Amino acid sequence: MSAWVILALAASAIGGEVTAIARAPGDAPAATAPVAAAAALPAERHSEQAGWWIVETANFRVCSRASSAESARIARHCEALRHSIRDLWLPGVVDSSWTPRCDVIAHSTEAGYLRAVGRGAAHTAGSALVEFSGTAVAVRRVDLKHAAPEALESALAHELTHVVLADRFRDRPLPRWADEGMAVLADSLAKQRLHWRDLQQGLRSRSTLRLAEIVSLADYPAPQRMGVFYGQSVSIVSYLLTCGQRGQFVEFVDAALSRGYDQALRDVYQIDGLSELERRWLASVTSGPARFVSRTPADFPVIESLRTSTRTGT
Ligand SMILES: [Zn+2]
Repeated sequence: MSAWVILALAASAIGGEVTAIARAPGDAPAATAPVAAAAALPAERHSEQAGWWIVETANFRVCSRASSAESARIARHCEALRHSIRDLWLPGVVDSSWTPRCDVIAHSTEAGYLRAVGRGAAHTAGSALVEFSGTAVAVRRVDLKHAAPEALESALAHELTHVVLADRFRDRPLPRWADEGMAVLADSLAKQRLHWRDLQQGLRSRSTLRLAEIVSLADYPAPQRMGVFYGQSVSIVSYLLTCGQRGQFVEFVDAALSRGYDQALRDVYQIDGLSELERRWLASVTSGPARFVSRTPADFPVIESLRTSTRTGT
């Protein structure tokens, strides 16, 4: 069915292991049975099936074990995040509601999460899956480990960034470095600091990748290079954000896929090719602020406290 599949995993807090996911069908409910729900917004549809509390909004179908209220809270947060992510990366791009909706499965246990996404994702907090049928999106899905509110918040913004961007690049895959670089900018500042540390270690040990190598990667690099790949990718995206206006980065990636990176850099950022970008970027990380420069994640809404949630096993 799918022409190609994106399997994008959240980088783990200790450096980002990424492994292909083997999906476990049937982990989440497939159909809904409406139930009465107090205080539901007009656009929300609440239901319950086999112990899963399901809430549908314009663009999402959220399933959790905790309660209908928690599913609704996550669904509203998803809608707000989707708006913020689009506003940051795709300003001015016409929006239309997602069909199909994006399934968001908030697992209550690690075992349930791993059954859904595969044991290779043991070190991740979330996982996104987008499947295409031709140029149409056939499946949008985010699985969340849901071990802690902060993990839910950070992983959800990261994974939804992948899902939002997949729509924009439905005719050709978004390069991994750009996809992960943008998604990491939705991570919490604590996670971003770990990526910054990985980048600095890579620079000290001279194990960073050349820019020409990063942009030509068809997939993730070898596991031992994953930490520096994430750190470098988000750093390059962050640097380019400071070189232009909002929305120009996605325009640049699109141009690079059509005309090559050297020409796209000249056209969009007036930077004289990859070698010049590499020189400028290196100068920025060695003498600039000791953090990624971006407009995120402060731009992203913060989810309401989940501390009152009732958790049950899957
Ligand atoms: Zn990711």
